[in-house]
Amino acid sequence: MFHTKSLPRSKDTSVVVVVLETTEVYIVIGLSTRRDTQVIYVDPTTGSLRYVGKHGEDVFDSEAAALNYITDGSRILSKSTTYAKAALGYAVLGSYTMLLVATQLSATVPNLPGGGCIYTVAESQWIKIPLQNPQARGNGELKNIRELADLDIDGKYYFCETRDVTRPFPSRMTLREPDEEFVWNGWLSKPFKDIGLPGHCVILLQGFAECRNFGGTGQQGGSVALIARRSRLHPGTRYLARGLNACSGTGNEVECEQLVWAPLKGGQHIPFSSYIWRRGTIPIWWGADLKNAVSVEAEIYVADDPYNGSLQYYQRLSRRYGNKSSGVNAARQKKSGMVPIVCVNLLRYGEGKTETVLVDHFKESLQYMKSTGKLGNTWIQLINYDWHATVKLKGQQQTVEGLWRHLKAPTMAIGFSEGNYYDAKQQLKECKGSIICNDDINGGFCMESIQNGVIRFNCADSLDRTNAASYFGALQVFVEQCSRLSISLDIDAMFGLSTSRYSEYNGQSARSLPPGWEERFDSVTGKSFYIDHNTRTTTWEHPCQEAPQKPWKRFDMTFDQFKGSTMLAPVNHLAELFLLAGDIHATLYTGSKAMHSEILNIFKEETGKFSKFSAVQNVRITVQRRYHNFLNDSSRQKQLEMFLGLRLYKHLPSIPMFPLKVLSRPSGCMLKPVPSIIPMADGGSSLLSFKKKDIIWVCQQGADYVELFIYLGEPCQVCQLLLTVSHGAEDSSFPETVDVRLGSSIDALKLVVEGACIPQCLNGTNLLIPLTGRIDPEDLAVTGKSARPDVQESTYLPLLYDFEELEGELNFLNRVVALSFHPSATSRKPITLGEIEVLGVSLPWSDILTNSRRSPELMELLHKKLSSVHCDLGSKSSANSFLPGNDAHSSVRSSCTKSLPSVQSGGSGNFVDFLTGDFDISKSNITDNMSFGNEEEEQTTFLDDGFDVNPFAPALEVPVAKVNNQVEESGCTHLYLKFFESLSGNNKGKGLNFEQMMKLEIKRLHLDLSAAERDRALLSIGVIPATVDPNRSIDYSYLLKLSSFADNLALLGHAVLEDRLNASIGLEKVNDQTIDFWNVSENDESCYGGACEVRALSSLQASATSENQSVFVECSQCERAVCKACCAGKGAFLLLNTYRDLKLYGGSQGGGYSALADCFVCKSCCSEMIKHALYVDYVRVLHSLRRKDRTEKAALNAVNQVCRFESSRISDLSQSIQSGQRQLKHILDGEESLAEFPYASFLHTVQTDDDSEPPLSLLAPLGNGDNKSYWKAPQDNTSMEFSIVLGGLSDVAGVAVIVSSCGYSTSDCPIVEIWASNKIQREDRTFIGKWDVQDIISSSPQLFGPEKSSSLSEAPRHIKFQFSNPIRCRIISIKMTLPLIGSRSTKFTEEFDLLSLDDSSFYESKPTNPQNSFIHAKRIVVFGNSLRKDMSPDTSMGIMRMKSYLDRSPPLGRFRIPVEAERLTDNDLVLEQYLLPNTPAIAGFRLDFFSVIRPCVTHSPSSSELDMREFSLAHMEDRFVNPAILYMQVTVVKESGKLVVEEYRLPEVKANTPLYFDFPDLQQDARCVIFRLLGDVTAFVDDISELDGLNLRNLPLASGLSLSNKIKLYYYADTYEMGKIGSLSAV
Ligand SMILES: [Zn+2]
Ligand SMILES: [Zn+2]
Repeated sequence: MFHTKSLPRSKDTSVVVVVLETTEVYIVIGLSTRRDTQVIYVDPTTGSLRYVGKHGEDVFDSEAAALNYITDGSRILSKSTTYAKAALGYAVLGSYTMLLVATQLSATVPNLPGGGCIYTVAESQWIKIPLQNPQARGNGELKNIRELADLDIDGKYYFCETRDVTRPFPSRMTLREPDEEFVWNGWLSKPFKDIGLPGHCVILLQGFAECRNFGGTGQQGGSVALIARRSRLHPGTRYLARGLNACSGTGNEVECEQLVWAPLKGGQHIPFSSYIWRRGTIPIWWGADLKNAVSVEAEIYVADDPYNGSLQYYQRLSRRYGNKSSGVNAARQKKSGMVPIVCVNLLRYGEGKTETVLVDHFKESLQYMKSTGKLGNTWIQLINYDWHATVKLKGQQQTVEGLWRHLKAPTMAIGFSEGNYYDAKQQLKECKGSIICNDDINGGFCMESIQNGVIRFNCADSLDRTNAASYFGALQVFVEQCSRLSISLDIDAMFGLSTSRYSEYNGQSARSLPPGWEERFDSVTGKSFYIDHNTRTTTWEHPCQEAPQKPWKRFDMTFDQFKGSTMLAPVNHLAELFLLAGDIHATLYTGSKAMHSEILNIFKEETGKFSKFSAVQNVRITVQRRYHNFLNDSSRQKQLEMFLGLRLYKHLPSIPMFPLKVLSRPSGCMLKPVPSIIPMADGGSSLLSFKKKDIIWVCQQGADYVELFIYLGEPCQVCQLLLTVSHGAEDSSFPETVDVRLGSSIDALKLVVEGACIPQCLNGTNLLIPLTGRIDPEDLAVTGKSARPDVQESTYLPLLYDFEELEGELNFLNRVVALSFHPSATSRKPITLGEIEVLGVSLPWSDILTNSRRSPELMELLHKKLSSVHCDLGSKSSANSFLPGNDAHSSVRSSCTKSLPSVQSGGSGNFVDFLTGDFDISKSNITDNMSFGNEEEEQTTFLDDGFDVNPFAPALEVPVAKVNNQVEESGCTHLYLKFFESLSGNNKGKGLNFEQMMKLEIKRLHLDLSAAERDRALLSIGVIPATVDPNRSIDYSYLLKLSSFADNLALLGHAVLEDRLNASIGLEKVNDQTIDFWNVSENDESCYGGACEVRALSSLQASATSENQSVFVECSQCERAVCKACCAGKGAFLLLNTYRDLKLYGGSQGGGYSALADCFVCKSCCSEMIKHALYVDYVRVLHSLRRKDRTEKAALNAVNQVCRFESSRISDLSQSIQSGQRQLKHILDGEESLAEFPYASFLHTVQTDDDSEPPLSLLAPLGNGDNKSYWKAPQDNTSMEFSIVLGGLSDVAGVAVIVSSCGYSTSDCPIVEIWASNKIQREDRTFIGKWDVQDIISSSPQLFGPEKSSSLSEAPRHIKFQFSNPIRCRIISIKMTLPLIGSRSTKFTEEFDLLSLDDSSFYESKPTNPQNSFIHAKRIVVFGNSLRKDMSPDTSMGIMRMKSYLDRSPPLGRFRIPVEAERLTDNDLVLEQYLLPNTPAIAGFRLDFFSVIRPCVTHSPSSSELDMREFSLAHMEDRFVNPAILYMQVTVVKESGKLVVEEYRLPEVKANTPLYFDFPDLQQDARCVIFRLLGDVTAFVDDISELDGLNLRNLPLASGLSLSNKIKLYYYADTYEMGKIGSLSAV
């Protein structure tokens, strides 16, 4: 039979990783599901991935075309090429980025019913790409990265490219919505999602997936697949991941699926059935301790609170395996069917067996859960079956029979899923069952029945016994699955089937009987009956007919009967799959293969022979396992955590989540030629190109400074300047300082850094200069270092938090970076430059402006934020959704509704459920008719000033922007001062205690005041701000302790958050309680009295506030009932460190702490230090929220300057963007659009009228903004010039102006002049032409007057200014001039009238009075062809000549000046070097850079951090909003007593890089030189230790910043003259 439609042969996915000679890396991916090929560029500096989706640039028709483009037709050499079959993950890890690819795959389940292939990764490879980012990395981090790359992946991970396989077959969900519990590369695949290519990285599962084909009786055969998915909720190895963890996941938890199907017959349908079971360790808190490598048995221990999380564990199972086919949400409707969960426990349960304790607890845990009454429709049954004891007592066969007896009822009750796959959707209409189809499936599935509930097997480790028992359980189901698919495995059915087929033709009598049977005719009834001579029985039923009709009959068989009546080949195929799977599970968990698995071969004939051998093997594996576990478990645990992206703050503390982008490439350019000694055709743009890494640029001789104007490829918030040091034989030619100015256009530049030092160092050193936006000079005058020049102050260390934080302006529209390099004073040579990179954060413009799918989503979220932020109001008083004050409303509200009128005393105590965090209403005496809704209102007003932050509360639903009237009236500063006075009275800040100072700061941050605003306010009433600085209010040793406490709390807080997020997978969202992580408020709270037994605070207001307005909980320490005010935040419990089961809850591993995060401690049970640490952490969180808020406001502001949008239009946005793109195509007519924002922008500020669209809207892609609105110039501007920097060097064919909806009238038709140029000098530009729009309009009357139809389908009204020849340029200048009044003939109007436009309303809508006319336009479109990136002229010759110029200089050497004595003071941050008399004049000093890191985590997570993961316009980390800058202050003390003070702003370089700083003058007669490290020293910490220590950070102040052995003084001398001595003392 011929197929009429021939399907195109599908290609396999191909991944090619190309490393070029320039060390640039490209990932070329052609998916099997797509025709085209994508090219992803790995930024060689930061590792961020770049993909814009532009055809011909990173999208190609074929892989060959893509490769050709990358290597420029093989003119650029590639250093290495890796061919792979799938991308598995990508991570930027500091100085490396790692790409994980699968180089070999095996199609282990090649053809799932309905299509889809499961591939197992047979061979994988980490491609390690070194980055040139000099951000400090510690050795500890590097070691961890190396270990990550050693993770054993091959053979243990699998994926499917086209179908969701994270759920039982067939999944209702698409590939894009996997069940997170089973996705192992969620973190590693994120970079691909972030660039909009989620499918280019597969969804990786851990475990086993393989299938076998088997024959049944007759012609019908089948396929069976065993798919085992390991849960990632409790990843890890045997001795570290057992029982439950804080995510309510159990160790070694696996979902197994046995999928049986009959291959497609004649294109009709595929019948299939699927059976699911679970295996895992016991879901209670327990562990085992391995004393040493040779100890025989591990010691088992169970936690004191062992059932914390058990309930959630079963709830998760119940949600997953509850039969949803009825369409009823099982979790809500208790009346619906029960979901049975049957636990088959195979542990030893005899006297004196160590496992007995676990069995007892297992039973008790079920009792406990029943007692909570929260199981809902989950029905749990426990079957204890001591596997080892039974085998020993009765032998293997009877053990299996016994198991079957136990499993029969539950297996039959739970059943399995059955259905058919149909190719064509039409067939589904006739289907009676529930239908499953989604975008990933061609046809659809019709389910006849769906499994309800699950059987769960466990032994101690869920390894060997579990594997065996689950095999025998699944075997019964397998035979049944086959029989339902009409694949009979009955041996006796062989006869039945063959005869029944025969009987259709020959009648009943011809049916043959099994051997030993006889058929006789009963003359009385006239029927046949049958005699079995084997058993001497008679029956009316034909033996071959009866057998297949009775379901599950094999459960009742003995082992021999089963063996005798079943085809063994398929059974052994299944056994083989279980053996393989068992080995995989064992290897993943213990590092060695499975033991005791010979029982799975019980149906094989030759079993006996191997049993002895197996015994020996078992012993060997046992020893191997122990050894492995003892040595490697903790490092394997770490590997897994990193692979999953867990505990990264611990393993890789300085790795940023979102790497910066380099925006000076690839399409950035120089706006002015960079001067050079040899004229260079490219004007210096090679300085921005990574491809010319080793460039040495020699500037003109004798220049006082060299100025560079860099135009960025995209607008961004600039964060760092990265310079590559490049010079000839002598390093003094490298510039000494640089000034940086930033702006959105060239006439709006603002100075951000002046005189940043550039030390002299080796060729090729990368120097990173951290940048902020412009800091208000007024701010500088009142706060920060500059405001207190007192030298003594250097001993001040703001370890708690930066009290004097200076806030630089944030602007995501920065486009031009101007750099001024100054030569060193002593150098007589011209300045040399190397590669220059500008790093920053850009907004996701393409998603906002052109992605019709993402854009409406983003806009909606923007609007939500906008409505709560009110950034345009500029009002301090506006309620701010990011400040936790508002969170309080939502979290308090939700919990208030559950608060209790009183506390029940005694008894089992907790009325707060420790498992769910729910308040157990059933125990309270709330009456049924009590309305919680009414209560809510009263309580929120009462708690208004509470300002609680709840870090773990679910993301806010639209917060009520509640503006306090009082705030609006009197301003924030006033409120702050009022609060200040209420605290300090007339003391002017003197006498405030630590807590009061912290409260003052909380108030300040809630009022949204910056440090500078605060200081101005305080100074205005004569208070010196330093007197209320908490950092200064406590002595140094307490400061150290307190800040380590707070640091520790921050890490614990993150562990809690991470676990909460993971624990929520697969469960319904639970609301948190009122008492949050900190329970800190700015106001003095008083005890609520009443039921509060603690009364840690005075209860002055007790009478005013009624009892039931507080929440009462039980203190975990003193077990007294405590009110909200007397309770410390939840974080306090984590810091108490008194839990008895530290070992079990993770100890130094920190894993389980978070399970206890719901415990409460009263204020009288925790120390002052803990309470203070909570304050510190809370203020740190508020600080960080303020930074996020500023960032988000700046991002909103940037978006508003490109397109104003209205919320009403969001629903149309997607359509509007699409039609905009169609319209543009019309206008372009085959050409490319060259001047679209964000790639193009205006060079100069464009004057704009107040009620106009923003100027950048002129360049925004069509379809954005209101269709009717347009840009207009202020009325008095009769001439406007737009200089547009194009997205790249282009051949421009013309310019089109899209006419505003108002249309043209007689008085506003401009004269248009156009110039083209490559640089900004006006004299260099080329005049292209002059057009009079009036002339054009006279022949196109439709451009006149307001737009009549606004059809989105046709091209909008526009005027094209076509050039006679295409012009190659980078900048297009367009000048529009309104004609002078009366300069034009009035003939035009007459002509126009003659054309007889019947729209008479035209004159009314648009007054012709020239006084009212203005320049306007809707869009400017520049069209033509963009050129390939590397069209810049060849400069290699010139560069060679520049290099040779430098080789001529004879080098002087630096020689060390010996020091008589050294003294370190002030935490080693100050170094005094005393010199010998008659030492040579000092030329400078060498500093070996510090080995420190800047940690990402500095405070506990806030609730908005949850939001951040979901959505944020700007992925900008705190570290970049507020960069840490170090200064070295040098004081030279002369014999004369004179002091010379110099200060150097230090760049960041790799640890231990030598930096040479020359003094401006030679320092003669120096007696002593004092070095003092200043700046943000407290922002740095030491590298994580290479050994896993208990404390992550030993000291709050990094010891790596110590100046000990870091500094050497030097002088210059001729190396030749110095000779031998010289080589000894060279520095
Ligand atoms: Zn109290
Ligand atoms: Zn207490």
